[in-house]
Amino acid sequence: MHALLVEDDDRMARALGTALARRGHTVRRVSRALDALRYVHEAGFVLLDLGLPDLDGLELLRRLRTVCDAPLIVVTARCEERDVVQALRAGADDYVVKPFRMAELIARIDTVRRRTGAHGEPPGGSPAGAGGRTVRAGDVEVDPAGRTVTVAGSEVRLTRREFDVLALLAGRPDEVCSREEILDRIWGDAFLAASRSLDVHVAGIRAKTGRPGLVRTVRGFGYRLGADPAGRGERDAAR
Ligand code: CA
Repeated sequence: MHALLVEDDDRMARALGTALARRGHTVRRVSRALDALRYVHEAGFVLLDLGLPDLDGLELLRRLRTVCDAPLIVVTARCEERDVVQALRAGADDYVVKPFRMAELIARIDTVRRRTGAHGEPPGGSPAGAGGRTVRAGDVEVDPAGRTVTVAGSEVRLTRREFDVLALLAGRPDEVCSREEILDRIWGDAFLAASRSLDVHVAGIRAKTGRPGLVRTVRGFGYRLGADPAGRGERDAAR
């Protein structure tokens, strides 16, 4: 998804930009409020610093909200209760105080996007997420609403968690999901020590569907839906 990063500090912008890019997001970074207003229409979500050179961040937030309802998280050094309350009342979806932990910020972004239904496309962009619709990959169909998976027209029975993992990947067919996000979303703990459990579930999905390429491993990062389910997914799945 495309992120608009409004941040006048170069080091902070670099760190955030790198972290977002690793998650598969594209990023436009701007350091002035005027540029934020110019580019906000293309954003799938917004990270907003309040201390900007040309306009107070809270005022910018109010103006952004008149033209855009994309998920927006304030990321700022201001930690007064008054600032937090004003930002939330002005339409921020969340508020993160610097210095912050990157994993926490990324988790908050995921949460806000999920809550606001922003897994799909930014306004005017190309469809990126499948929402609750049936997703096809080769001869595999995943129906998130009915919680069914069919392979070549025959239903395959997965366990609840196997299905949850597959549905999560199918919901964002063009994105790589990190191990942390999958563990967080489905097991409720991104730092699960027994994260081998995820590999076991992925192996189960591949075996039960008989489609080794249905879930592709992105080494050192996570998983994505495979475009060629019948292909040799196990080859790059070596661990
Ligand atoms: Ca600043």
